[in-house]
Amino acid sequence: MTPREVAALIAYVVKLDPRLALDDQAAAAERLAQWCDLLSDVPAQAHGWDAARTARDYIARNPYRIQPSDVSRPWHTHKADQIGRHVGTFEPTAHPEIDPDDETGDAYVAALRREREAVAAGRIAPVTLRAITAGPAAAEVERRLAALGEYMPPSVKQVLAEQRPRRTERERAAVEGRPDPLDVSCIYEHCLAPVGEPCRNARRQVRTKPHPTRLDRAAAHHARRQEQETAA
Ligand SMILES: [Zn+2]
Repeated sequence: MTPREVAALIAYVVKLDPRLALDDQAAAAERLAQWCDLLSDVPAQAHGWDAARTARDYIARNPYRIQPSDVSRPWHTHKADQIGRHVGTFEPTAHPEIDPDDETGDAYVAALRREREAVAAGRIAPVTLRAITAGPAAAEVERRLAALGEYMPPSVKQVLAEQRPRRTERERAAVEGRPDPLDVSCIYEHCLAPVGEPCRNARRQVRTKPHPTRLDRAAAHHARRQEQETAA
């Protein structure tokens, strides 16, 4: 929240709970500064979130004077809940900006990450399984199933997923917010796989599992990126 939004929120809670009124200008300024500090990473409004409503509900249900943490804690719970429900839109049609023939999948992985960040920040609604099984896509599947009878051919997406397990795994890691070993190169001396390429054994055959040193580096890389995200 911006200082202006925080000031508006304080004015609102004082109206709801007159005990919060401060006659002393200096004390009021100090409280504003404290609330601004503690609510700087909490939006006034986001998808499914309204700070003023949260404050009102708190005041309606509690005999205690509201604290900034009574707004920030529910926000962080809300944010975790949204991201927990988010399954990611794997359907390429959800990301029209991406070239469907991009074999590396890098652009798609980046899009899934941006999507996850937007959900975490409350800029967009999480894409849930419920949404996927109940939306227009589900209706389309129903229609096709009715036309086909019992038989349902494996979807193109399924076939692609089987042919591109690496890409699927990268997408999954991006959606779930896990480290992606292919984000870093492998420094194991018999492998030295570059970024985006799978690890290979001494006979240059693709390994199903990345080398442990690469996993470690990917985890460190991931932690750094998350730090940058939280700092941003
Ligand atoms: Zn390797």
